[in-house]
Amino acid sequence: MAKVPSIDLDGCTDCDGCIEICPEVFQRNETMGYVEVIELEEYPEEEVLDAINICPGDCIGWEYV
Ligand code: SF4
Repeated sequence: MAKVPSIDLDGCTDCDGCIEICPEVFQRNETMGYVEVIELEEYPEEEVLDAINICPGDCIGWEYV
């Protein structure tokens, strides 16, 4: 099973904090405008945790896929 970050867009305030703190994982979808997780083989746990901790919407978590 892979551990993949996920964003609950209902709680997202579009603050861009996750993109600033962890641009290798989070980006803004240029067509749709929302924040999304970049598809990677593996995710840097510490950096994603930093993003989870600063997210004002408390809307970043892990999914096991
Ligand atoms: S840090 Fe949280 S609230 Fe801010 S853009 Fe990222 S997911 Fe949205």
